[in-house]
Amino acid sequence: MSIRIRLTLWYVSLLAVVLIAFSITLYITLQISLTNELNRSLEDRARQVALGIQASNDPLDILRTGVIQLPELGVFSSPSIFIQIADMDGNVLRRSPNLMGNNLPIDAETLNFIQAEQSYQKTMDVGSVQMRLYSVPLVFGNKVIGMVQVGKPLAEVESTLRSVLLFLVSGTLVSLILASLVGVFMVYLSLRPIDRITMTADRIVRAEDLNQRLPVPPTDDELARLSRTINRMLERLDNFFQAQVRLSADVSHELRTPLTIIRGNVEMLRKMGDSPTDRAEGLNAIESALSRMSRLVSDLLLLSQADAGMALKMRPLDLDGVILDVFQQAHALRGGVQLKLGHADPAQVYGDEDRLKQLLINLMENAIKHTPVGGSVTLSVYRTKNSVRISVADTGAGIPPEYLPHIFDRFYRVKGQRVKGSGLGLAIAKWIAEAHNGELTAESEPGIGSTFTLELPVYHED
Ligand code: ADP
Repeated sequence: MSIRIRLTLWYVSLLAVVLIAFSITLYITLQISLTNELNRSLEDRARQVALGIQASNDPLDILRTGVIQLPELGVFSSPSIFIQIADMDGNVLRRSPNLMGNNLPIDAETLNFIQAEQSYQKTMDVGSVQMRLYSVPLVFGNKVIGMVQVGKPLAEVESTLRSVLLFLVSGTLVSLILASLVGVFMVYLSLRPIDRITMTADRIVRAEDLNQRLPVPPTDDELARLSRTINRMLERLDNFFQAQVRLSADVSHELRTPLTIIRGNVEMLRKMGDSPTDRAEGLNAIESALSRMSRLVSDLLLLSQADAGMALKMRPLDLDGVILDVFQQAHALRGGVQLKLGHADPAQVYGDEDRLKQLLINLMENAIKHTPVGGSVTLSVYRTKNSVRISVADTGAGIPPEYLPHIFDRFYRVKGQRVKGSGLGLAIAKWIAEAHNGELTAESEPGIGSTFTLELPVYHED
């Protein structure tokens, strides 16, 4: 079932429940108030007649003569109100002219109540008409001598209630039909933008063009947010696919060079492999191509593990030991470059020792590679209250400003360089820094040197 139909059904059902509950309450309230009103008017009329009789008769006269003066009831009656006066034997003494010789019924129950000096009301069938009857006792000198009965047919109240019921039922039906039509239209209007979003998304998927974006409606509502979210998702997918394409192109390109070297040397060895110098040269070339390949493969493996969310072995670490180790390892690579240990604040960080060493070695290696003989590389540690900055500063070739923003990208290498590399070292370093909640930045001035700074949060024991 579509959202459209579901929403409309919900909306119409809710409206139906509200309208039906309202109609039932209204009908019952009206019924009670009309019945009360009828009872009150009958009671008033009966008491009026009874008071009239009591006022025009002297109790002593009645005791003496046994005769009671009765008023003309035509004055009290109206076309729909019937009145009669009866004695305690049930004999009708006087009746209003509109009764036309008929009597209002007197049953034993009524007589019992009157006998007990209580007024009594009841609905009774008089012929084919339902009549509401109100009876009050006529009391003279503590003796009940009869009763005044007032009756009114229920037809008037019933017909009013019937009209109201008809109005409520038809009103509810018409409202529900109208509400359904308006509801369907409103739901259609409010869901139309979703159709547009779905169609555009479908077009993007079918065209396999992740460059396209959904139009964002100018309103700042749920649909605008949905479009923006889908657009962000498309952008991520687009970046991801582009990175995939770039990665496979870069990897195959990187592997081609050492493979070509290996194949060339194997062929050369096969053709003229007898001379020991040629053989040694060929094997050396193959060995260095293989080590380049194996370094590339292990770097790629590390990055793909990083992408897959590799867990680090984090623990509190004293930086002194890490720095000393890195410094010693770098010594082996230094060539003609002078290595210096600069400012060295003691500090503790929370991190993975091997990965932090790998990061710093990558920075030291780069610095040494890009610094000419006679230059220097300085490793320093500065600690502030909450952070520690480890910097690797060289006096090397530097990086032109236009290349600086890209040096942390995978496979990115500054063009026209003397020293060759895979372009993965800084990408790995940056990932390690970020996995430690740290930041790796670079500053450089061509011809003067570069400084790479790793900033890490200080570890506080608490
Ligand atoms: P690679 O393995 O090729 O050195 P990196 O990711 O480590 O790759 O470095 C990316 C690029 O940044 C390198 O091509 C290099 O030109 C430049 N670079 C990195 N460190 C330095 C440095 N200390 N001095 C000058 N250039 C540097």
